[in-house]
Parts: sequence; C-alpha cells; structure tokens
Amino acid sequence: MPPENPLLLRNPLPRFGAIRAEHVLPAVTWLLDRNRAQLASLLAAPLTTFKSLVEPLEDSQHELASVWSQVNHLNAVMNAPDLREAYNTCLPLLSAWQTDLAQNEALCRACQRIADTDRTLDATQRRVLEHRLRDFRLAGVALDPDRKARFKALMQQLTQLTSKFGENILDATNAWAHHVTDAAELAGINPMIVERAREAAGVAGGYRLSLEQPVYTAVMSDAHSSALRRTFYEAWTTRASDQGDASWDNSAVMEDILRVRHELAQLLEFSNYADYALATRMAKSTAEVFAFLEQLRVASRAAAEQELRELQQFAQQPLEPWDLTYWSERLQRERYSISQEELRPYFALPQVLDSLFQVAQRLFGVRIAERTSVALWHPDARYFEILNAAGAPCGSFYLDPCARPHKQSGAWMDECVGAKGMSGPAVLPVAYLVCNFLEAAPAEPALLTHDDVVTLFHEFGHGMHHLLTRVGYPTLAGINGVAWDAVELPSQFMENYAWRPEVIRGMARHIATGAPLPETLLQQLIRTRSFHAGLQMLRQLEFAWFDFSLHAGYDPVRGAQVNAVLAQVRAKVAVLPVPAWNRFAHSFGHIFAGGYAAGYYSYKWAEVLAADAFAAFEETDVFDPVTAKRFVDCILSQGGSRDALEAFIAFRGRKPDVRPLLRQHGIAA
Ligand code: ZN
Repeated sequence: MPPENPLLLRNPLPRFGAIRAEHVLPAVTWLLDRNRAQLASLLAAPLTTFKSLVEPLEDSQHELASVWSQVNHLNAVMNAPDLREAYNTCLPLLSAWQTDLAQNEALCRACQRIADTDRTLDATQRRVLEHRLRDFRLAGVALDPDRKARFKALMQQLTQLTSKFGENILDATNAWAHHVTDAAELAGINPMIVERAREAAGVAGGYRLSLEQPVYTAVMSDAHSSALRRTFYEAWTTRASDQGDASWDNSAVMEDILRVRHELAQLLEFSNYADYALATRMAKSTAEVFAFLEQLRVASRAAAEQELRELQQFAQQPLEPWDLTYWSERLQRERYSISQEELRPYFALPQVLDSLFQVAQRLFGVRIAERTSVALWHPDARYFEILNAAGAPCGSFYLDPCARPHKQSGAWMDECVGAKGMSGPAVLPVAYLVCNFLEAAPAEPALLTHDDVVTLFHEFGHGMHHLLTRVGYPTLAGINGVAWDAVELPSQFMENYAWRPEVIRGMARHIATGAPLPETLLQQLIRTRSFHAGLQMLRQLEFAWFDFSLHAGYDPVRGAQVNAVLAQVRAKVAVLPVPAWNRFAHSFGHIFAGGYAAGYYSYKWAEVLAADAFAAFEETDVFDPVTAKRFVDCILSQGGSRDALEAFIAFRGRKPDVRPLLRQHGIAA
C-alpha cells in the first residue's frame, strides 16, 4: 500500500495545493523501491511474455513519470528553496534507476527472446520492443565487462566536461564588464538597460554594462556607437576562449568532449558520433544530413546576398559583423513601421485563446472548454478539457500563461499524465502548457505581442501531439519515442495558423475600442515573417554545418581541429567575412553543453517537415477537413509508434520537400 502522500494519490489529476517539498523524496524513494522489487520478480518468473513482462514495465514507467512530472512542473513554475533541494536530491536517484534499467542484461535478453519468438505481437508491440532493444544497445548493454566499464567512465567524464564547458562560459561572461562615463556613448539603447547600468556603477559613477544576454542584444541591435558595438561583439565572440582570460579557455574542454564522444560511438561500433546520434533520428545517414544542408544553402545563397547588398545600400557604408543586427533593425523599422509592443492592445489573451480553440475545432473536430473545479498551483493557472467530435472527453491541459517571480523563463509543453491504454483501464492524457507572457494588471487580461501569439500556437501544437494520441503504450504515446529531429513538426505546423490573415482578423480586436487591427498593419505584420530570411537561414546553416562536420569528421590522430573546421564552414556558407579572432565555437553551448550535439540541423529539418505538411493544406484549403483528418491519422495520433519518415510519406504521399519552407520565407526555390 502506498503511504499517505499526495504525490502518490493522484485522482487522476495532481492534488496541487496539497503537495509539499517534504513529500517529494518519500514518494520517489517509495516508487523506486517498488520498481526495483517489481523488476526483480518479473525477471525471476520462468517464461515471460509481452503481457507479463513488458506491459508491467510500461505501467511502472508511466507511474514514475506521472509522479515525477508533478515535482518537475512545480519546481519550474513555483520554484522555492525547499522544493529545489528536494528536486535536486532526487535527480541522481532517478538517473541511477534509468541506468540500471538501461544496462540490465537479463531484461535485455528477455525482451530479445520475446521479440524473436512471439509471432502474435502487433505492429505497435513490436515497435515497443524495437525501441527498448535499440536503447539497450545504445546504453552499451552488449559490451564485455572491460568495455562496459570504459563506457561508464566515458559517460561520467562527458557529464563533467559538458558541465565545465557551461561553467567556463558563465564565469567568463560574469567576469566581463564595460565601464562608460559619457551617457552619449549609450545613445539608442533601451533606457531600462541604461538605468540598470547606472545603478550597477554605483559610487564609481558612470555606467557599468555587463555581458548578460539582454544587455548584449540591446547593444548590438540599438547602440548608435559602432565602437561600442564592436567592443561588445569582440567580448561576446571571444568568451571562454584563447583570445580571452586563459582560466576559462574552453579549447581543451572542447577537444576532450569531441574525443570522448568519438570513443563512445566507436565502442558501440558506430564510425563516429554523428552516426551514433542518427541511430534515434529521422535522418538516416550523415550523407543525408549534409545533402539536406547543402540543398538549403544553395537555395538561400542568392537571397542572402541580395539582402546584404540592400542592407549595405541602406546603411550607406561597408558593414562589419557588429553592424549587421543594428542596421537590420533600422531597416526593418523603416520598411514595416510596426513594433511588437504597439500590437499588444490588439491581442488580449481571451480573444487569442478563443481563436486558437476555434482553429483546433475546425482542424481536429475537438471542443475545448474550461473547468474551474480543479486544484491549481497558482491563481493564474487554468484548466481545460478537450471533447472529441462525439462529445466524449479525450484529454485535458493546464495553461499557465504569464510570467511571475520564481517561474522559469521560456515557454514549453510538458506531459502531466501520459496516455495509456494497454490491458487495464485507459488513462487520458493531460498536458501542461506554460508561457511567460507579460503579466497583466490586476483584473485585466494579459496583452500579447504577435510573437507571443506564435509561441502559444507553437506550444499548443506540441499539446495536440500529446493529447490526440491513439497509442496505448506509454513509451510510444504522444511525443514519446518520436524521433528527435521530427518532434517539432506539430508545433511548427501550428505556428502557420498564427500567421494566417483570416485567423489574425478573427482574434485581433483593440482592447479599449474593440476596433479590428487595421488592414495595412496586418499586411505589414505578415510581411515581417520573411524579413532577412536568407541571412537568417545561412546563419542557422552555418551553426548546423559546423556542428555536424565536427562530429562526423572527427579524426583521433589530428584531433578535433575546431577552429579549422569552423573556418572551412564559414568560407562555404557565410556571406559576410568574420574576423580571425572570432571564437564563436568556444561558447556554442547547444552542442558542447546542451543536447544538440550532431543535432543542430534538427531545427531546419523539422521546419521543412512542418512547412511541407502545411503546404498540403494550402494546396486545398488551410482548414480542409479531409487533409486535417489525414494529418491526425498519419502523424498527430501516431506518437512514436511509426517511423517518422514513413508517417510523413503516408500523409504527404512522398518524401519531404524543402521548397514549401523556402516559399514560406520568400526565398525563391
Ligand atoms: Zn517546440
């Protein structure tokens, strides 16, 4: 019997309001103990079957995920010291359990035997086993004891190295400051940032500017002084490198990270780390990824060169790298005379939600209704139920729209409860949609920028993926088990509707007057979507290409050659030369400290899928019910139960095509 602990007594929704930090460790420990005991007894049984072994495992993983998701969520949206401590205490316990499970040889053998001998399994059950066997292999389960020990040691080393990489960036960034005595030098910069710099200078007088992201961005986009922009550009692009203070130089750390990743991949008999990473992706080979990047580069090059020429004419001077953002900003303002801030009164949250829900109803046949009798973690949070076309509940979601202290920044969709429908009673999926819109005055609705509206549609797209799933096995339901380079398809697909004129017309009403958004403003807004699309594309391609070349082309004899690889990629991709002292790679956290190693291409990959999927609607009608049903049947409801490429081909009748994305951004194909 579970102890009296609100985390374990979901019914089926979390008992927000009753959960305290002191409940976290006992609940997690109790569950992990139970899971370990269950695993031992499952493996002790003589002849296991899918039903007697795999289903109970799916069940216990589902239970653990549902319990932990409450803690994870509260830690993100209601952070407090005691909760954070409890959360951090549990992280190593959970990761030890995941490792034990992933490297359990007896479990791996049992799964293999079921896969080899049971002829009655259906396609989804086969897929569950395939994924499990694949993950066993990628966790090094088949290695001999020496290699297994080496594998573990390398994994630990990698964790330390990637963490060191991030710390060096943070320390180098924090150690840097720029002092200005004359306010005239700061002309153009957002007054809020200038005021904060004045406060930071304190008794010394003048202004002390830090290198934090918002300050850097404000200087690069708005400081009239080219000298000041150059100073910041240099500081920013040489952080944690050999061009700065040697104590935070990431050169050796990067070299080690790439060496360790390469060795890990080779232990598992992959030729390099990029190949290893592709084992769980939609892209099948390194050649395919390079060809994809090359195709986009060739297609965008002319547009990017044209944009740069125009920008140079507009600036009436040759442009240096630290001038690009500044002059782009000026040109955009002159050309579209529209600012995100001015749009706020037109996008009040209630109207935006109404429009979003109408889009969902027209596309997917679902009705969304708010329920107020549900326990919440904060008065701003809300709860919505989704009913299918027949009026039956098919899932629900929480929405926490606005920023507040102790809430993690950014926007995301997370699984609260995963869908489950194996042999026992079905469990309906529940999602969290979290955003950080500007907080409204008391009793007023939140007012959104159009960027915010796009963000909301994006997260709602992830939500639909999770909530409209028809897969009953938790490890393949919703976004689970979906190839990592395809998981942004539904979210980026939904963004398209936030740009449709008919959708904007339906939602944009001035908060005070009720007047619609003037048609000229609406058209200007829509045109901003493709502003400098060529330059943006090449920038992203440069990052992706560099990342993938580093990991695919690693040579143990010559080492990583980070600077040389970066220089080669730039010579091929960039339209504006970069100074020789630029050390962008040394602070490229996505690939050295984050989860994007050999994966930065995924941004563009998923964008292509989303634009191509949306083009199928544009060819008929963006609300065409037949196309929408096919989209749900082939992609949205399938979770990880189907290969991502197969699912896409089933929907589109062919492989993905890059042209719709290029068209969408006004880059001629
Ligand atoms: Zn996303």
